[in-house]
Formats: sequence, structure tokens, C-alpha cells
Amino acid sequence: MHYPQSEMVGAYGEQLLEWLNNYVFPTEARYKDKDYAKEMSEFFINQLLRNGTTTALVFGTVHPESVDSLFEVAQHLRMRIIAGKVMMDRNAPDYLLDTAESSYQETKALIDKWHGKDRLLYAITPRFAPTSTPEQLTLAGRLKEEYPDVYVHTHLCENKNEISWVRDLYPDRSSYLDVYHHYGLTGSKSVFAHSIHLDDCDWDCLYKTDSTVAFCPTSNLYLGSGLFKLQKAWEHKVKVGIGTDIGAGTTFNILQTMNEAYKVMQMQEYKLSAFEAFYHATLGGAKSLSLDHAIGNFDVGKEADFVVIDPCTTPLQQLRFDNSKNLADELFVLMTLGDDRSIYRTYVDGRLVYTRS
Ligand SMILES: [Zn+2]
Repeated sequence: MHYPQSEMVGAYGEQLLEWLNNYVFPTEARYKDKDYAKEMSEFFINQLLRNGTTTALVFGTVHPESVDSLFEVAQHLRMRIIAGKVMMDRNAPDYLLDTAESSYQETKALIDKWHGKDRLLYAITPRFAPTSTPEQLTLAGRLKEEYPDVYVHTHLCENKNEISWVRDLYPDRSSYLDVYHHYGLTGSKSVFAHSIHLDDCDWDCLYKTDSTVAFCPTSNLYLGSGLFKLQKAWEHKVKVGIGTDIGAGTTFNILQTMNEAYKVMQMQEYKLSAFEAFYHATLGGAKSLSLDHAIGNFDVGKEADFVVIDPCTTPLQQLRFDNSKNLADELFVLMTLGDDRSIYRTYVDGRLVYTRS
């Protein structure tokens, strides 16, 4: 997710590239102001907690201040948040550009400052291949070499115009994914958002490098990007996390996100079971972030991040809950009809951090 895009969820009428130019870039400019970034970080973290999300992988803006703010708020609550400063040195307005060298220096300083501090983790975050020069991706790869334990977070194959743009910008590479692979940015802690339009070679590369893809159904539908092929991820044994992708995604709520994931898979004749959906939202998500040793289920010794869910907050939910035959039914109704009202309490690291009023 992109915390600075919280304030522009539901921006009308565009697909990816126009949406970035018309809405996202002007909004992200505001995060140079540390006070403003702090205020919006608080808003964002509160939205996560009221929706029952205790860990997220988050894009900042190009400004280091944006990441400092988010980490400060998360640290105060002892949350497990992974985040990074966006690296982008071309194809965006001047006011949002860094340079290959400054992005390297700023990222390095942020890693030293935040990675592994309390429960916080850092992600090297080139926005996506079109907004980085080869020099910048080279330095991103160098950072990954210098800090093999940090994450890599970026976008991949979301939109068809985006893909042909990458082909023009990187004519020597065999595919969009191959751009990242070439610069050393694939690996077990690399997360590629969307990954909708991949071929078998790409899936194979993701598998061999143990990389992760993030399935963001509300975003993919909202921007008209396409249908994620969850069946391919299983077939190729590629790790999948489920994401909201705020602000192209239209909800912070993972139950609603699962509801839309079910529909995306219905369009492809794949039955997404409640058990599978809840797996992606919990232990599967933890595995996709290499955090299953610490979070994701109730195994003894893990960190106590959990929610208390009220499955019957509306008359319709009550009716459907009462006539459900088994746990699979109950969970499926919860993911179909549930939303932020379903989150009764949220606990982070054993402490109560949100109660529904
Ligand atoms: Zn995104």
C-alpha cells in the first residue's frame, strides 16, 4: 500500500499512467513537509488498526521525511511495518525526482536508521522501472547487495501500456521482470505488486528467485488493469500476499479485499475458498513477507498481533450466520459481508490498540 495515497482513494476516471500523472504525483508532493507527513501517517495507521491490519508493506514518497514519519508512528505502537522511500529519478514531475546518487545515499541512511529497530523493517523501493534510470536500478541492486536482509518493494506488469513503455525504456531486457532480475532486485525478500500480465518465463523466474507477488484485487478492478492469475502462482509455487494497494485500491479492509479477490477468481473459473482467502490474509501473508517465524498464526512464541472479530454486525450478517452450516460457510459469509465494523478489537504485540466504539 501507499500511505500518502490515503487522501486520494476514489480518484475518478483513469487507468494507471494517467492516474499517476493526474492524481498521485501532485498529492505525493505534499509529503516533503514532515508535519503533514506525520499527520497523515497517524491517519493511515489508525485506518489499518480499525480495519484489523497489524502488518503492512508500505510505499512512502520520494521524501525521506515521509518514511521517518511513518516509522515514528508505527514504532510508538510497536507495530511491525515494512516501508521505504520511493526511488524515482525520471519520468515524473521535477518536484518529485531524486537522483540515482541521492536515492542511494538517502536509502542507505534510512536503512541504518530504521531497519531492525524494534519491529520495523526497511524495503528498498524503486517505484517501478519506468521512473528509474538504469543507473538508479544499478544502485538499488548495490544496496540489496550491501544489505541482503532488507526487502525490495516495487510494481510489476500492472497495465499493458506500462509494459510496452518498459519495453521501450529497457530494450535489451527480455521482459519487465527481467529488468528487475538483471539489476539484482529479485529474491526471497522481493515483493512485486500486481504481476498481472506475466508469461511462463516470468513465473519461472519468480519461482527460482523465491520472489513474492502481491495480489491487489480492488486496485486491479478499479484501474481496469486486469485479472490476477492466482492459479498460475500455485502452479509455479510462487509466494502470494494479498494487498489493498491503497490508494488505487478502494478499501483498507482485508475482508472486503478477499470478497473482491473471490470475484476476480470467479471471472477465471477458480473457486477461491474461504480457507484459502483467510490463509492469504494471515499465515500466507506472513510467509510471503518471510515473517512466518514471528507472525501469522497463534503458535507459541510468536508475536501477539491479532484481532477479535464480530461476525454479526448487521441483521443480514446475523441471518446468514445463523443459517450457515459449518465453519467454511461462516467464514465465507464473513469475507463476503464483512467490513471495518466486523473488527471488534485489534491487538499489536499483545497490547490493545483499537476498540470499536
Ligand atoms: Zn501501488
